Amino acid sequence: MTIWICATCGVEHPDSPEPPPGDCAICADERQYIPHEGQSWISLDQLSAQPHATVHREHGFGVHALYREPEFAIGQHSYLVQTAEGNLLWDPPNYLDAEILAIVRKLGGAAVIAASHPHMFGSQVSWSTALGGARVLVNAADRAWVRRADAAIESWDELLAPLPGITLVRLGGHFPGSAVAHLDDAAGGTLLVGDTIGGAAAEGWLTFLRSYPNRIPLSANIVRRIADSLEPYAFERLFGLGGKAIRHGAAHAVRRSAQRHIDRVTGAHDELT
Ligand SMILES: [Zn+2]
Ligand SMILES: [Zn+2]
Repeated sequence: MTIWICATCGVEHPDSPEPPPGDCAICADERQYIPHEGQSWISLDQLSAQPHATVHREHGFGVHALYREPEFAIGQHSYLVQTAEGNLLWDPPNYLDAEILAIVRKLGGAAVIAASHPHMFGSQVSWSTALGGARVLVNAADRAWVRRADAAIESWDELLAPLPGITLVRLGGHFPGSAVAHLDDAAGGTLLVGDTIGGAAAEGWLTFLRSYPNRIPLSANIVRRIADSLEPYAFERLFGLGGKAIRHGAAHAVRRSAQRHIDRVTGAHDELT
């Protein structure tokens, strides 16, 4: 049978001879959207046959970014983090073909696959299978969004250290189980944020939204909680799912961006509007 992938969010669904009936539940949710042309599905083989390439960027200190050009669906930048006891594949790619699999294998494969939130589940089970049964970690608060169940999927709650120097931290916000991965590395710490913390165009700034495509904000309380939850962690660098990169002063960028958001949504600068 065929594994069908939603062409809008890029999340794999259970195998079936025909595409799943109806709309993708992840895209029908208010944080995503069903395109004007309607729901469409694609298989890994069909995706592989389209002209594309995988871009591999090394960020140093064992962090590698991988992404598809042209992008497919949400078009995430995935991150492979190398450790002495196996690697983490963060926000796994929504596609899987010989080229990207060879790159991941050359970097040492992955022992653990984890996504920042359900939009980033991608082809997590296909990746686990291709890598010989890597653990797939899903936050318990978002487990109901898993479309393709598999014995490799495990739940985690608030904090988890799946590999040396790597801590998954649930922050919530965009989804109740939205998480970041903190890397205790020689760069002074690195945070992989998915869109638990969103990229902003300006250098050194970030944002916090319930929905990025539909521009739905988060409240002041939730943004305060996200920023406060990160206070125990040191991080100079930050990498996001859209390729947002902060190489110095990332913890400061999170703090000041949270304060800016809070000031705006609580009306502290309403006189300027
Ligand atoms: Zn979808
Ligand atoms: Zn998202």
